[in-house]
Amino acid sequence: MVFSYHPSHGPRNLIQFQEGLSFPQFNALYDYEEKCEAALVGAGLAGLMAARELKRGGFSVRLLEARDGVGGRVWSQPLGDSAWIDFGAQWIAPGQRRIQALVKEFGLATAQSHSMGTALRIESGDPVPSRGFSPSTWLAKLDELQILLRRERQARQLAVPSAQTEARRQALDALPVATWLEAKAWTQEGRDAVGLTVEEGVCASVQEVSCYEVIQQLANIGGLAALARAEHTFLPGGAMAIARRLASGLSAELELATPVLAVHQEAGAVRLTTRQGQLRARRVILALPPQLLASIALDAELARRAQWYRGAIVKGRVVKTVIVYGEAWWRRAGLSGQVVDPEGLIEHLADGSNPAGSPGILIAFATASRAERLAALEPGPRQALILEHIRQSLGEVPAAPLVFHSIDWMEDPWAQGGYASRLGLGCQEAQQPVLAEPIGRVHFAGTETASQWRSYMEGALESGERAALEVLSCLALP
Ligand SMILES: Cc1cc2nc3c(=O)[nH]c(=O)nc-3n(C[C@H](O)[C@H](O)[C@H](O)COP(=O)(O)OP(=O)(O)OC[C@H]3O[C@@H](n4cnc5c(N)ncnc54)[C@H](O)[C@@H]3O)c2cc1C
Repeated sequence: MVFSYHPSHGPRNLIQFQEGLSFPQFNALYDYEEKCEAALVGAGLAGLMAARELKRGGFSVRLLEARDGVGGRVWSQPLGDSAWIDFGAQWIAPGQRRIQALVKEFGLATAQSHSMGTALRIESGDPVPSRGFSPSTWLAKLDELQILLRRERQARQLAVPSAQTEARRQALDALPVATWLEAKAWTQEGRDAVGLTVEEGVCASVQEVSCYEVIQQLANIGGLAALARAEHTFLPGGAMAIARRLASGLSAELELATPVLAVHQEAGAVRLTTRQGQLRARRVILALPPQLLASIALDAELARRAQWYRGAIVKGRVVKTVIVYGEAWWRRAGLSGQVVDPEGLIEHLADGSNPAGSPGILIAFATASRAERLAALEPGPRQALILEHIRQSLGEVPAAPLVFHSIDWMEDPWAQGGYASRLGLGCQEAQQPVLAEPIGRVHFAGTETASQWRSYMEGALESGERAALEVLSCLALP
């Protein structure tokens, strides 16, 4: 049985090394210099997509990645010869046209997520049949529905520009979801059910995120119907296959294990400093989670953006655990493998196995404060807690798991959270577009900057396309 963390838990001393060094000191350390037209920092889906577009545009491109592999928050590992497991992003939704197009272009196999059988919800410590996140009583179900429909209606109303909607947006941006739920929910169960859906969706607590953020998130993925299908499909060969295939067209342009330590704008160019040397580019795209700007030495203008992020950004917190058995034994008992627990640390169990159910893969999620509490446990107690939750909800396990692997994404130095970070209370309404605004010759990509499917893989691809277009239009000018 395996219990381990992300292998790229890289040099923790990086930040200490940077601090206390001025730019002239940095520059003196590195005398090796290269030039290119466009340099990109971060080979997640956003950076890979942008690099591909820029290369297609005929420009010289360099893509620098801190880890020893591509994909970032998309990270898959083979499970013998028979399957792959995803420790980061996994599911694809029907309306995600960019990712669907890449899957088709690369000829990757997809499978529909398993949803046959009875889903369970833990109520007063016992598993009861339920419809996913929904509570079991009719009144609470109705309550949940009226809350969600109100949200959807508000999203439509706020999309109409007027002085009145502007004022309404600002008010909702200052209002925590928790306070709104307190006022609008009829039942505690309905309130808890919606609260849990929100927290699992945004990986932050209902006290930290604003109503406006949640309305925006719902609107930019296409509403409740789209949300319900967000886990519709997955790639049995691992989601990382998309990143690998994008990277295979960039082999000469890509440098792995090359963290960018400093970004400095100077006359007509941007200078990137790495341990290997310096790179001067006419334009740069930073395709990183925004909080990581704080671990790079920056010129004054960029440092102001990083400083603003420090106060405005709420980092997503998620622990994703993958538990592998020889087969999906819960299916034999007529169970779907889906268990929602509003009270425990594992809020959601899901069946991540292929349609044949062999091997049997359970995915356990803890987000927001539950993720923090789970992450605080030593590996042994964490494993015991999760396996006991499986036993209590799905029944006696026929055999010990073959693999148990729990990833705390807050601990990953090159992500510092997941699924994504977002702007906190009072910041979203006016400032979300600022995340994607270039500063001089430096452009920004990454799922956090997307206008559609923000925080999803699709959002990362959209942001990469948008940033590449910005750079292409600048480079085309004399
Ligand atoms: C547990 C989990 C589950 C998820 N599930 C889903 C899902 O089912 N479906 C879905 O669509 N999305 C899901 N997501 C979200 C999805 O993974 C992200 O939205 C997407 O992968 C973000 O891509 P990105 O390119 O914007 O950023 P990243 O993937 O974070 O890429 C940024 C890259 O920059 C690199 N980097 C950082 N600092 C430096 C530096 N100084 N120098 C050089 N390189 C640097 C990083 O190593 C990384 O490779 C999940 C995320 C997590 C964590």
